[in-house]
Amino acid sequence: MYINGEWRDAISGKRFDVTNPANGDILESVADGGKEDTLKAISAANDASSNWAKTTTYQRAEILYKAHDLMIQNQGSLAELLSLEQGKAYKFASGEVKYAADFLLWFAEQAKRIYGRTIPSSRPDQRFMVQYRPVGVVGAITPWNYPISMITRKLAPALAAGCTAVLKPTETTPLIAIETFKILEQAGVPKGVINMVTTSNPAEVGNTLIDHPYVRKITFTGSTAVGKKLAAGAAMQMKKISLELGGHAPFIVMKDADPVHAAKGATLVKFLNTGQACISPNRIYVHQDAMNAFLSELKSRVSKLKIGRGMDKGVTIGPLNNQQAVEKMQSQVDDALAKGATLIAGGSQPKDSDLDKGHFFAPTILTSVSPEMKIYREETFGPIAAVIAYDNEDDLINLANDTDYGLAAYVYTQNLSNAYKMIEQLKFGIIGINDINPTAAGVPFGGMKTSGYGREGGEEGLLEYLEVKTAGISI
Ligand code: NAD
Repeated sequence: MYINGEWRDAISGKRFDVTNPANGDILESVADGGKEDTLKAISAANDASSNWAKTTTYQRAEILYKAHDLMIQNQGSLAELLSLEQGKAYKFASGEVKYAADFLLWFAEQAKRIYGRTIPSSRPDQRFMVQYRPVGVVGAITPWNYPISMITRKLAPALAAGCTAVLKPTETTPLIAIETFKILEQAGVPKGVINMVTTSNPAEVGNTLIDHPYVRKITFTGSTAVGKKLAAGAAMQMKKISLELGGHAPFIVMKDADPVHAAKGATLVKFLNTGQACISPNRIYVHQDAMNAFLSELKSRVSKLKIGRGMDKGVTIGPLNNQQAVEKMQSQVDDALAKGATLIAGGSQPKDSDLDKGHFFAPTILTSVSPEMKIYREETFGPIAAVIAYDNEDDLINLANDTDYGLAAYVYTQNLSNAYKMIEQLKFGIIGINDINPTAAGVPFGGMKTSGYGREGGEEGLLEYLEVKTAGISI
């Protein structure tokens, strides 16, 4: 753990093991923090808060620039650790480290743009001024699927805004969080400004952050179930909270789309991070007329995906996070098949004996998926492409919006009017038109409905860590 500028063991002395999800090997053990450790971390963040808030935005930007450069210098070793600890293929791990560094750079630049405003008054003897001030101590809780970029997506804007923070990384990926903190320490973040409690007991540490009056803002990325609990807790103290939660993205291939291009995009985004991405498509709607060409390209591309350990050459599909995730895949497939779906590829754990100690599930394609199947409503978070044929484009918007989630949606069309209509009418926070990566550090990321609220990245990402103050001045 990292508290008040020191690397520490847990007060209890306990540790827990971190394993490689591809083969079950123990990689290392880390401090197992609890309530008392979290209280110390909050206290350190609170003590550091007023001095850090007094630094200039230029001083804070300087530290973030340095952290960005250090992260890029260490991209290879960080990617290797990320691949071992989380499972994703090295190429994608390296991409994630770059994405993590992008947030450090973006918010280094944005720090200097915390401008404020002056507003005219109707009274000749009055002036109005608006200032943005740091919210104070931030409690940040991050997930395992993008374990380095989700840390910088939260800590970079918090630091830029002048906030101090306590981070609780996920129990399955604390090692990459530790390396990220070493970089921030080396870049010159003063003691107490950022703190980290590693733990195998997320609820204990999470509840301490939620309940403590010094913590004025919670930022969370994870499941909707946990997000709802945190939101309820934060409400009791009127804490600011931003939540990046689950999704159930529609991927729509319209009649006028290029079906081969659409299938290429569907393969890339559906199997990205072995399907463990909150923006992963869960319902792939394909117009009847485009179905044959789409499916044949999808099958051919899926057959070329290579499953295995992230560091092995040519691997594109790594393991899932744990065995429960494998069981969830099997249950969604079995349920869909029992209710009339057709299995086109995969459908079970791979038979390869080399992989039997890891949490693998074969890349799967199901067709004839229908609304009564679990996969149609439940987030999959794994490598299953659920394909649905449709023939009436008038129903499309309603079909796509028929979910409690509202994070990402994708549309393939070559018609500009269709593209505009979809952007305006789909109830999702992020929309890709013939584009499977509608995200970047400089644009807002976040959802509607049970996908959460608040935005990360972009200009909006910084506002989440600032309070708005209005001053009226009589002259
Ligand atoms: P999870 O909610 O179980 O875990 C996420 C984080 O919450 C972890 O750090 C975990 O330790 C912590 N946590 C768990 N219980 C807690 C509690 N009671 N109090 C405080 N913290 C607690 O989610 P998961 O299943 O591990 O992750 C996958 C989910 O995260 C998916 O639903 C996915 O869609 C979502 N996700 C969303 C985004 C996004 O940006 N919208 C990004 C990545 C993942």
